[in-house]
Amino acid sequence: MDNATISSLSAELAARKLSSVELTGHFLSRIKALNAKYNCFVTLDEERSLAQARAADARRSAGSGQPLTGIPIAQKDIFCAAGWRTTCGSRMLSNFVSPYDAHVVAQLDAAGAVNLGKTNMDEFAMGSSSETSYYGPVRNPWDVHTVPGGSSGGSAAAVAARLAPGATGTDTGGSIRQPAAMTGICGLKPTYGVVSRYGMIAFASSLDQAGPMARTAEDLALLMTTMAGYDARDSTSLERERENYARELGKPLAGLRIGLPKEFIAEGASADVVKAVEAAVAELGRLGCTTVEVSLPNMRLAVPVYYVLAPAEASSNLARYDGARYGYRAPEYADLADMYKKTRSQGFGAEVKRRILIGTYVLSHGYYDAYYIQAQRVRRLIARDFAEVFERCDVIMGPTSPTTAFRIGEKMGDPVQMYLNDIYTTPANLAGLPGLSIPCGFDAKGLPVGLQIIGNYFAEARMLNVAHQYQRATDWHTRTPPGVE
Ligand code: GLN
Repeated sequence: MDNATISSLSAELAARKLSSVELTGHFLSRIKALNAKYNCFVTLDEERSLAQARAADARRSAGSGQPLTGIPIAQKDIFCAAGWRTTCGSRMLSNFVSPYDAHVVAQLDAAGAVNLGKTNMDEFAMGSSSETSYYGPVRNPWDVHTVPGGSSGGSAAAVAARLAPGATGTDTGGSIRQPAAMTGICGLKPTYGVVSRYGMIAFASSLDQAGPMARTAEDLALLMTTMAGYDARDSTSLERERENYARELGKPLAGLRIGLPKEFIAEGASADVVKAVEAAVAELGRLGCTTVEVSLPNMRLAVPVYYVLAPAEASSNLARYDGARYGYRAPEYADLADMYKKTRSQGFGAEVKRRILIGTYVLSHGYYDAYYIQAQRVRRLIARDFAEVFERCDVIMGPTSPTTAFRIGEKMGDPVQMYLNDIYTTPANLAGLPGLSIPCGFDAKGLPVGLQIIGNYFAEARMLNVAHQYQRATDWHTRTPPGVE
C-alpha cells in the first residue's frame, strides 16, 4: 500500500479490494509512528478523516465513486478546511479553526477524497527550506539532517516518506517544485488563475498558485483535474472549460522541441545537478524529442524582482493579522496600539517580519517608483523573454533547484543565500507560466535531483505527458528513501 500510486489505489478501491477506511487507517498509523522523525504534519484529526473515509466507502458501494473517492490526501496547512485548525505555519494562527473550506479543499471533498491531515510549512509560505515554521523544521526523508525544501516541505516529505499518496501545495516562487525536487517526488505549479485561491491564505496574491504533489505525473493529472476549475470567489480565477489533465497521457513525444535556456546552467547549478538534468534531456532525446538552445536574458533579475514584489504584496496581505479579529492576541498590553504591536511582534517569526519590513519599504513614498514600479517593469521583460522562447520550442527544461537538499540550519543565518535557491523557479511565477518538477537522478550523496519542465500558458496536460513518457522509460520516481520500503 505504501508505494502504490493514487491511480492504482483508485483501481483497488473501485474493485472493492480495499476500503477507504483500511487505506486511511493505514496511513494514519504510519503517520503516528513516523511523524516525530519527519515533522511533516502539524494537525491530525483521525475521527474526521475516518468519517470521510466511511462516507467514501458508502459512495463506492452505491456505485457513485469518482477516481479520487476514498483516496487520502495531505493538505498543506495554508488551505482553510472547515473545522480544522489552519495555522499557515505561524503562531499568529495557532488557535485558528477555519469556519469554511478553501475551493481546493471543497473540490477534493466533493470528489470524495479524504483529508488526511494538515502539513507543516514555512511560516506564511515564506521560505525555501521549511525551517521558518513555528512548529519546527520538517526533515527530509532522504537524510533527516537535511531540509526537504520549502515552503510545501511538509507535503513533500509526507509523500516521499509514504505517509500520504498525494498532497496539495502552493507555489509563489517555487514552493511546490523546489521541495518536490529535494524529496524526489513530482509537483506541478499550474498556470496562474487555473486553480482558485479562495480560502488559500494569501502571501503574494499575484504569484500564489496551488497545485498537486504526488509520486507520478499520472497522479498529478488525476489530482489536477479535480483541483482546477473556475471559481467566482477568486477575482483572478480564469473562466475556462473544465479540463481532463490526463487527456494527453500516452501520446508519443516524437518531434517535441525542448528549449534549453543557456542561463539555466550558467546561473550556478551544482555539477551533480547539471549532470542529472543533462542525462534526462538525453533520455528524452531517445524518446524522439529535439533540443534547441534558447535564452532568457532577464532571468538573472528574477530573484531581485521577486524579492521586491513578493514582500510588497505580503506586507499588504499580512496587515489583517492585528489580534482584533481572529488568531493570536498578545495576552498583555496597555492600549489598542500596544495590542497591535505586541500581537504582531509575538505572533510573527523573524522571516515574516523581514518581509513585512522590506515590503513596507519598497511601497513607501519616495521608494515606490525606484523599487516597486521598476520591479513590475522587469517582470514584464521576463514574461516577454518567455513569449519569445516559446516561438522556438514547446517546453523549456532545466534544473528545478541549483543544489540538492542542504543541511538544516545551513542557510538560516543568510537570507540572501536562502533566496538564491529560487533562481530557477521564480521566473515561471513572475510570468504566470506552469512549471513541473520530476525526479531525474541523485547526487553523489544519494540526494534527489529535480528536472524542471516549464510550458506555455495552459500547457499542463502536455507537460504532464512529457513527464509521464519519461517515467515510463526510467525508474527514478519509484526510488524510496533509505529505511522507507
Ligand atoms: N522560497 C520563496 C520564498 O521564500 C518561495 C516561497 C513560495 O513559493 N511560497 O518566498
